[in-house]
Amino acid sequence: MALTGSSIGGMDRAKAGPAPVVDQAAGDAARRAAALPKVVLHEHLDGALRIDSLLALLRERGVEPPARDARTMAAWLDANAHAGSLERFLEGFALTVAAMASVDALARVAREVAEDALAEGAVLAEFRIAPLLFEAFGLSADAVVEALLDGLARCPALPSGLIVCAMRHLPPGETLRAARLALRFAGRGPSGRGGPGGPGVVGFDLAGAEFGHPCSEHAEALALVRRAGLPMTLHAGEADAAERVLEAARHGARRIGHGVRLADALADPERRPLVDEVRARGLHLEVCPTSNVHTGAAASIAAHPITALWRAGVSLSVHTDNPLFSRTSTTAEMAALMRETPLTEADLLAMTRQAAAASFLGTSAREQALRRIDAAAEAMASKAARVGSDRGGDARNARDARDTKGAQDAQAPEGARTAERAASVR
Ligand SMILES: [Zn+2]
Repeated sequence: MALTGSSIGGMDRAKAGPAPVVDQAAGDAARRAAALPKVVLHEHLDGALRIDSLLALLRERGVEPPARDARTMAAWLDANAHAGSLERFLEGFALTVAAMASVDALARVAREVAEDALAEGAVLAEFRIAPLLFEAFGLSADAVVEALLDGLARCPALPSGLIVCAMRHLPPGETLRAARLALRFAGRGPSGRGGPGGPGVVGFDLAGAEFGHPCSEHAEALALVRRAGLPMTLHAGEADAAERVLEAARHGARRIGHGVRLADALADPERRPLVDEVRARGLHLEVCPTSNVHTGAAASIAAHPITALWRAGVSLSVHTDNPLFSRTSTTAEMAALMRETPLTEADLLAMTRQAAAASFLGTSAREQALRRIDAAAEAMASKAARVGSDRGGDARNARDARDTKGAQDAQAPEGARTAERAASVR
C-alpha cells in the first residue's frame, strides 16, 4: 500500500511542479527510514515474495496468475489487502504456496527475501513459514526446510535463521509434527547443495487464525519445544484479547507476534497488571503496523497502539508480517510511523536494538548486529550534534534518543538494559 502510494505520488509530482510541504516531509521520513539499520524478526516467507518471482514461479508450475504483469498484480494484491475479507487475504497465500511448491522455488524465494532484507539495511533476520503446508504438493516437510535453509545460506552477508510455524486451526497432532520437524533442524544449517552452514531452525511459532484457537489447544507441542530449549515466538493478542499474550508466555513464548491488544489493558486500571507482567517477563512484541490495519487490529497507522505500548515501556520492534500482501517494507513501516505518529528516528533505532537483543540467533550474530546498530546510533547522534551546533541548538534527535531510553530505563527491565547499552555510545 505505502509503496504503491508513494510511487504514484512521485509520478504526479514530476508533472505538477514543486512538491507541497507535506510531500517533502514524507520524503524526508522515507530517506531517514531508509538509512536506519533493520532487524527482521516477523516476516512470513510465503508473504514476502517479489511480485516478478511470484508471476514467474506460478507460470513455471502451470498455474494461471490472477494478473498478467507486475503492475496489475500489485493492484490485485492492493485490492485484496483492503478488501476486509479473510477469504480474499487467504487467496494470496494459496497463490504463494502453490508458486513455492518445489525445492528450487523454495530456495529461490528464501534467498531473494534475504537479499531484499539485506538491501534494506537488515543486520540480522529471522524468517518464518509453515513447512507442512507444502506436503499437499508432494514435498516432504524435511525437504522444504532443507531447501529454505539452503536459500538463506545463499545470502551469506545476512546472518539469518528460520522459524517453523504450525497452523493453529489444524489439529494438535499436526502442531506436534511441526514441532518435531523444528527440533530436527534446530541449530542445523543446510546439509545439502553447498553454501556455508547457518544456524538452521532458530524458533517455533503458532500462526493462522488466532480467535477460537488459543495456545492451550497445542499445549503438548509447545511443551515439547519448551523442554527441548528451542525458543518460541507465538502469534497472540492480535485477533484475540490482551490476556492471550500472557497465555502464550506461560506456554513458553519469549516473543509475541503482534500483541497489540495489550493496549486495551493499558487503558483499563483493572487490567493494567497484564502490561506490568509483560514488562517483568521481558516479553518482546513483534509489531506489524500496516498488517494490523489491514486485518482490522488497528484503525490506522496514526491510531496504532505502538506509541502507547512503547511509552509504557514494553519491549517491541517494527516488522512487516507479509510485505507482499500488505505492499510494504520495513523501511516503509518506519517511515509511516515517523510521518503519522509521535515516534522518532531515535525511538525506531532503540526498538531495532531491542529486536536484535531479542533475536533467537546465536550470541555472536546478536552481538555483531548490536554493534552495527550502536555504530548507526553513534553516527546519528554525531550528526544531530553537528546540526545542533551549526543551527544554534536543534539537536532534537540526540535528545530524543536519550529521552526515549530514559523512559524505558524507568519502566522496563529489558528496556533499561537496552537503554544503558545504547546510552553508553552517545
Ligand atoms: Zn505473522
